[in-house]
Amino acid sequence: MLETVSGTATAAVETIPGYPAGHAVRPNISDYAAFRSGFSWDSARRELDGLPAGGLNIAHETVDRHAAGARANRVALRWLGKNGSIQDISYARLREGSNRFANVLRQLGVGAGERVYILTGRIPALYIAALGTWKNRSVVCTLFSAFGPEPIRARMALGDARALVTTPMLYQRKILPILSQLPGLRHVLLAREPGEDESVAGTLDLAQLLGEASEQFSIAPTDPEEAALLHFTSGTTGTPKGAVHVHQAVLTHHATGKLVLDLHPEDIFWCTADPGWVTGTSYGIIAPLSNGVTSIVDEADFDAERWYRILEEHKVSVWYTAPTAIRMMMKTGLAPLAGRKLPALRYLASVGEPLNPEAVRWGVTAFGLPFHDNWWQTETGGIMIANFPALDVRPGSMGMPVPGIEAAIVRTSKACDSVDVSVAIVEEPGVEGELALRPGWPSMFREYLNEPERYAKCFAGGWYLTGDLARRDADGYFWFVGRKDDVIKTSGHLIGPFEVESVLMEHPAVAEAGVIGKPDPVALEVVKAFVALRSGYAPSDALKKDIMAHARKRLGAVVAPKEIDFQQSLPKTRSGKIMRRLLKARELGLPEGDVSTLESM
Ligand code: AMP
Repeated sequence: MLETVSGTATAAVETIPGYPAGHAVRPNISDYAAFRSGFSWDSARRELDGLPAGGLNIAHETVDRHAAGARANRVALRWLGKNGSIQDISYARLREGSNRFANVLRQLGVGAGERVYILTGRIPALYIAALGTWKNRSVVCTLFSAFGPEPIRARMALGDARALVTTPMLYQRKILPILSQLPGLRHVLLAREPGEDESVAGTLDLAQLLGEASEQFSIAPTDPEEAALLHFTSGTTGTPKGAVHVHQAVLTHHATGKLVLDLHPEDIFWCTADPGWVTGTSYGIIAPLSNGVTSIVDEADFDAERWYRILEEHKVSVWYTAPTAIRMMMKTGLAPLAGRKLPALRYLASVGEPLNPEAVRWGVTAFGLPFHDNWWQTETGGIMIANFPALDVRPGSMGMPVPGIEAAIVRTSKACDSVDVSVAIVEEPGVEGELALRPGWPSMFREYLNEPERYAKCFAGGWYLTGDLARRDADGYFWFVGRKDDVIKTSGHLIGPFEVESVLMEHPAVAEAGVIGKPDPVALEVVKAFVALRSGYAPSDALKKDIMAHARKRLGAVVAPKEIDFQQSLPKTRSGKIMRRLLKARELGLPEGDVSTLESM
């Protein structure tokens, strides 16, 4: 529907009502502006319990407090196995399993603040291990199981992994080749599938240890500022950045689960993200459980038919997914939805990449509901800007700031000594600038692990600078414009070009490599590499395949380039940096912009 919204010079702005009319359930926020002005993080804190012994611990807020009360037998996680099996895990059982895991860590001597890595698919052991790790006051670091050995090695070495939970297959394929490079790794716990009973030298059997451990555990007092989570994200240079989040992040997860995702106590919620990425921990584990709902975990990968069946059979009421998946469903068409009845479905949300207006409208055609886009990033730990149920959706907009979050569009300028950055707020509507947030919300990252300078660079003039370009319209809706840097977004995952270039350079034929994101109608971008060869090597299809195979083996399929082009030499600045911006402009046939720093070739 088209409406004219007052205050905008361009007159017509498309809006879609944010909530189905006449639904029995009412949204948690009915008046965004009034709610926002009355909100404080202190008042939100009252919805959490706090530990009986003092402090705040994610595992208590997500599991133990429900297990000790009326929700003990409510299903916390409904796990859908690839092969069709279903496992319901109640809050009481989740408490017991996570207590056992916490005892296992304690017996192994893994201490508070030490990092426990989890490299598995979406299986129950992942959830039990994460919750038990928080109980032991150790730090959870989940890794995406489709990573190849090199991204895994880099992340485990940077975080000095003390213990690892993985599966026999992932251990053999991805850990054994790098094991000698992980001297700090003391314990490998293998989660076996039934029937997978061979023991592997140098590893422990998770099920056996859990079976032997006590089901009683009381969480020691936890400082709300203690580290709880380590998530790696990508930059354009150097190693991946380890963003550290603390226990009180649960406050943001709980509040945004309720206010943005509109979670109500009886909801069946499905977040399709993998916990190897921040959305899968913040909204696949913490937010739904702290709100006491039933959370669906599907072990299988995307398949439109399977997804619609899950929505119908499990009566999903709130669904949180991503633009790439929505675009894949759009491509499949509506046929697999025919005949399905989804009366329980009440609220749809999306995150991770720009959500095209067509995708928002397609939600209305397919499900009678719009997708509510929201924006955040690994560093923010939780949703910061969102389309709220009480607000009309403006297709293509990320929405408005979450209560408790101050967002602005700013212009930054480097002072001549290149250290101080001055920040000016852009007040005029519709003008593009960098998206900035006022620091201090509970789930804000507290450091980049071991990199204080890199962390300090994210803040200036009293703002956290997100690295995203955006604009705000006259009514306060934020619109995403693009990234300020060269980081690539593919199928919702951030990929650092430097990490890919470094692996390409290991190939004996490669002299130089430059990596860009090439626009793609479904994945948003795909990783494309430009390669200059060493003397003695000539371009050929066979060589291309060989370089591609090397990249896949080392990086895994999600990170490796999908396309490689050979070039005589790559454009570089006078200081020798490969100009990815120029490679991209040339690839897309766009103007080359300022080339004053280009080295003459
Ligand atoms: P990550 O840290 O991997 O979660 O990626 C965060 C980045 O993804 C942001 O800085 C944005 O560039 C992009 N992003 C996340 N959500 C949105 C959204 N709703 N619209 C546009 N870009 C998004």
